[in-house]
Amino acid sequence: MVRLPRLHAWLRSSRTWIALGVLAPVGMVAVSGLMLADLRRDAWDRAEQTSRNLLQVLDRDIARNFEIYDLSLQAVVENLAAPGLAQADPRMRQLILFDRAATARDMGVMLVIDAHGDVTDDLGTVPPRGGNYADREYFKVHQARDGLGLYVGNPIVSRLTGERMLPFSRRINKPDGSFGGVALGSVKLSYFMHLFHEIDLGPGGAINLYGADGTRLMRSPYVDADIGANIAQAPTFRRFVRERQGSFVSTSARDGAKRFYTFTQIGSLPLILNVALSTRDVEAAWFAKAVTIGGITLVLCGLTVALSLLFGRELRRREAVQEALAALSRTDALTGLPNRRWFEETFAQASETARRDGRPLALLIVDADHFKRYNDRYGHPVGDAILKALARRLAASVHRPQDLVSRIGGEEFAILLPETDVAGAGRIADRVHAEIAGLSVPAAGIGAGAVTVSIGLACTGPGGGAAAAPDLYRLADGALYAAKEGGRNQTRIAAAPAPVPAPQRAGLQLVGRA
Ligand code: GH3
Ligand code: MG
Ligand code: MG
Repeated sequence: MVRLPRLHAWLRSSRTWIALGVLAPVGMVAVSGLMLADLRRDAWDRAEQTSRNLLQVLDRDIARNFEIYDLSLQAVVENLAAPGLAQADPRMRQLILFDRAATARDMGVMLVIDAHGDVTDDLGTVPPRGGNYADREYFKVHQARDGLGLYVGNPIVSRLTGERMLPFSRRINKPDGSFGGVALGSVKLSYFMHLFHEIDLGPGGAINLYGADGTRLMRSPYVDADIGANIAQAPTFRRFVRERQGSFVSTSARDGAKRFYTFTQIGSLPLILNVALSTRDVEAAWFAKAVTIGGITLVLCGLTVALSLLFGRELRRREAVQEALAALSRTDALTGLPNRRWFEETFAQASETARRDGRPLALLIVDADHFKRYNDRYGHPVGDAILKALARRLAASVHRPQDLVSRIGGEEFAILLPETDVAGAGRIADRVHAEIAGLSVPAAGIGAGAVTVSIGLACTGPGGGAAAAPDLYRLADGALYAAKEGGRNQTRIAAAPAPVPAPQRAGLQLVGRA
């Protein structure tokens, strides 16, 4: 569980908001992407379902009609064997022959053709309309082979009515089994036109009916030039034949449009029916939604990014202000040096590091001598100027980045020297004295050498006086006291405490200038 203060800090970090500003839009895009993919799948599922249902209805209607027409033909063939037919007068003969013949609006002709191709009987008229059909494909097929059953041929233009027809026929056998002619019926292609006409499949959709040889028998929407075209070589048609029923997306051989084909062979008839939806129509409604949802998502993402960046920037600005304030609270206003608080924080860290790593740590406490006199003689502003000059000189006395020069009191400074032994710290103390010796404030008539400081030095490690870092300050302060006592303008090094515990000040040792 995230603890509250940590959550609070997390929420206040500018990085958090920038990360959220990036992650939230990525999430939004992902979610709307998934949603759109889902909607698209739905659109395709619906299209497939609609096509299948439609195909089934059409398939049933066509198969049922052909069954009825076939029953009519079978009845004609049976009736040819009726006793007394040869003696019946023409009108009676017609009544007997076609007694079970179906009639419908789209039914074409129904004829009996003899073994020579001549029409002998006609459902339409008595006497029959004349003509010889020995040249027709269906005639030749039946003549050549027995046992074909119902034969549905390629579409033809009727010689009797001039209309496009789909012929269907059955062979007539003589009593000895030899070829006795053909019972012929035909369905006007307009039947399919009427059947498909009312169905709306969108602007790019179509319904097609093909013969087994790839000839297009009907297409809706109807274009005269489409009828009779052969697409046997088209990959789509090959697939219709190979798979008999199914669905797939492909490019139309007719107009190059991409369509979703659902197809089936009609019953056992040599007819293939397909419902072809334009893929653009299938996806049109989805696409409109996708544009709207995508647009809204992008706008929201843009807003989220912009707001997060703005918020992040504001937080960064606040962080910077806070950092500046924090730095100010740790800086001495007069000299610009780190103040006592900064010194104490750094001292605590440096003590810990020195203890852990077993490395020496040195501390110099520097105090201006008789500083009160300068204030008294020249006034407080000159005193301030001297303090500033002192600070600059002290800062110039150290060079390593980890050395810290700070103002810890009125005219009292501390120099913290990590990784420095007593000898090194002594050299720094000498450098401090040398730097201060060059200090002058010409405007107040204070020349070089007038200002001096006393330094108390303590260091962990051999000769430095302190057993442990926390003692450093007390020891250095004691050494400073000794330097003052000893006449000022000098450095004293804190000596190691006496082995016998006694309530006394640490021993002192005089070095540097006396
Ligand atoms: P000693 O050699 O014993 O250190 O004598 P001293 O006069 O330096 O020491 P004392 O502690 O008696 O006086 C320190 C003086 O430093 C007192 C005060 O007027 C002066 N002082 C402290 N802070 C400031 C400051 O910010 N500006 C100025 N101008 N003077 C300050
Ligand atoms: Mg002083
Ligand atoms: Mg002082």
